[in-house]
Amino acid sequence: MLMQTQAYFKKSLARNILSGLELGEFTVYYQPKFDLTSRKIIGLEALSRWYASGVGWISPAEFIPVAESTGAIIPLGERVLVTACKQTKYWQENGYPELSVAVNLSSIQLEEKNIVTRVEDILSQTGLDPRYLELEVTESVLIKNSIWALEVLKQFRKIGIKLAIDDFGTGYSTIGYLTTYPFDSLKLDQIFAKTIHLTQTQLVVRAMANLARQLGLTTLLEGVEEQTELVMARHLGCDQVQGHAISPPQPAGEIVLAMENYS
Ligand code: C2E
Ligand code: MG
Ligand code: MG
Repeated sequence: MLMQTQAYFKKSLARNILSGLELGEFTVYYQPKFDLTSRKIIGLEALSRWYASGVGWISPAEFIPVAESTGAIIPLGERVLVTACKQTKYWQENGYPELSVAVNLSSIQLEEKNIVTRVEDILSQTGLDPRYLELEVTESVLIKNSIWALEVLKQFRKIGIKLAIDDFGTGYSTIGYLTTYPFDSLKLDQIFAKTIHLTQTQLVVRAMANLARQLGLTTLLEGVEEQTELVMARHLGCDQVQGHAISPPQPAGEIVLAMENYS
């Protein structure tokens, strides 16, 4: 694509994100986090979905980067947080008192000066106890602005919010981040589930899960599609899995079925 065309496409996509937000085209899907010991669903991850009128489904892989580079991620991310917290509070009051929810936080959101107060406000607005909210950040957040990020993450921790490092194993995978930053959970990238039949992958996953445990973090393997991968994840010392083997991301009304199956 020509650079000009690319810029035009990005601009119009960005405009459409904002109008899509106003039109209510964005929704939140939920995907279970499955505990391998209790064999129960212990939480859900909230994932943005966009059905653009006249276009159809647009995947997060496409719209999140554009939303990030244009600032639209701020209102979008806030909408996801409010929706996820409100919905989780509802579920807690209707049969799932210990359910927690994880929301992905972009580095752009984390750089916002008032991010901690915004999140606190959303928690008090929706009535969700901070200990049931987990924020997922990727390594890029820590690389870009490490001193600020550390400060903000510490403040989240102080309020009682849980923190996860997402997609670990794809970027620099700096082990030091696990000791410097106050994470509760390590999410191993799907690539490890895809290659879990390889001895090398098994060695890495076992070592990472071991290290995480020593440091007081839980380990979750992402993108587990088959029962055999789930069994292997447990065998290698992972605490939790997420993936199609348990359930794909689904709308709030439908994820309840998966929760009933595993509660
Ligand atoms: P992520 O946070 O690592 O989320 C996991 C992704 O893996 C999701 O893709 C999910 O649908 C997909 N997935 C789950 N289980 C399986 C499986 O068994 N097999 C395969 N092949 N894939 C599986 P999705 O929903 O397309 O989101 C992609 C990425 O976009 C997310 O990766 C996250 O980084 C970002 N994202 C999504 N929603 C939001 C949001 O509200 N805010 C921000 N900042 N980022 C978001
Ligand atoms: Mg995530
Ligand atoms: Mg991930």
